[in-house]
Amino acid sequence: MSLLDKFDAMTAVRAELTARGLRPFGAINEKIISPTEGTIAGKRVILAGTHNYLGLTFEPECIEAAQRCVAEQGTGTCGSRMAAGTYAEHDALESELAAFFGRRYGIVFSTGFSACMGVPATLAGPGDTILMDSDSHASIYDGVRLSGAEVVRFRHNDAANLEKRLERLGDKAKDTLVVVEGIYSMLGDMAPLGAIAELKRKYGFCLMVDEAHSMGVLGARGRGLAEAAGVEDDVDFIVGTFSKSLGSIGGYCVSNLDQTDAIRFSTRSYLFTASSTPATIASARAALRVLQARPALRETLWRNANMLYNGLRELGFRVGPDASPVVAAIFEDRETAIRYWQGLLDQGVLVNLVVPPGSPSTYSLLRASASAAHTEEQIRHILSAYANLRLRDAA
Ligand code: PMP
Repeated sequence: MSLLDKFDAMTAVRAELTARGLRPFGAINEKIISPTEGTIAGKRVILAGTHNYLGLTFEPECIEAAQRCVAEQGTGTCGSRMAAGTYAEHDALESELAAFFGRRYGIVFSTGFSACMGVPATLAGPGDTILMDSDSHASIYDGVRLSGAEVVRFRHNDAANLEKRLERLGDKAKDTLVVVEGIYSMLGDMAPLGAIAELKRKYGFCLMVDEAHSMGVLGARGRGLAEAAGVEDDVDFIVGTFSKSLGSIGGYCVSNLDQTDAIRFSTRSYLFTASSTPATIASARAALRVLQARPALRETLWRNANMLYNGLRELGFRVGPDASPVVAAIFEDRETAIRYWQGLLDQGVLVNLVVPPGSPSTYSLLRASASAAHTEEQIRHILSAYANLRLRDAA
């Protein structure tokens, strides 16, 4: 087999979809009208597949901060954080994130991916062991592989299975890194963090939680699942992203551990990539202020999330086990999922299509996300679009 032959299967899938006039991966947003509306192929659609949980992408305070910053500091830093690319904005956001999470140290990365990949890759090394949830995000999978540590997956959201694997490690359990997420990106379900924190107290491992989808969504102050579960003291490292609730791009790691600064200067995805543009950081800073000043956004988000989740369930769709802003409808059959994705788009609703190997198992998903910026009418429209497809199938 030549080097390039392995791409034949992907090329064939892409060609087949194109021949059928389908573009489920990378549909082009021609115009963005608001956090929840855009146009695709000339048609107005409701954006129901972004992770714009608090709807802050058009927030005047965030736009104004970014505009001021780009005018004053330019379009890019042209340097890595370690070299010439640390600006006052990066430094300020690190302090503000640490304060928000009630931690001593904060590190800002250029993307969520580089934070979630880089931190486990640096924390563990050859001779160490990492125990990770089997449904972890690709960034975590890549990070643990890069670490060179022995990687053991435990069954998704199964604390008993995690404990079995800890027991097997014996004395080594206390030096193990355990990695879980707050809200999982595919099914919107939540880690059993209370039970995992209890295991940490028993076995003494190091715990990292990716709060990418739960920051701004869960907890009395919006700090995520660790706050909601009352176990923040048990979490050693929180990582996450600015590309969801904060409506920007970038990533972070916060911790109370004094080694955090050494970890910063040992993490290759921090050291060897250009730092985020100052405008990007300025909008993330403004969004973090809005997140804290307007807890009502979280209430509206949950009203919409519950309406979408309960609505799909009542229509007979198979959904994930927990109501959350990530609302996935599960399809055994890939073709049906593709047909429904197009059927929704034809009715002006854009959601995400996820097919194997991107999905956690052999099934396919239509993944919708609720936002605080969706109106009740928009959620009703989304639900009626799903309902029409179901009626059409039943006829
Ligand atoms: N972790 C999780 C759980 C995610 O879902 C994502 C992105 N979808 C990331 C990390 C990476 O974040 P970003 O896209 O902001 O780089």
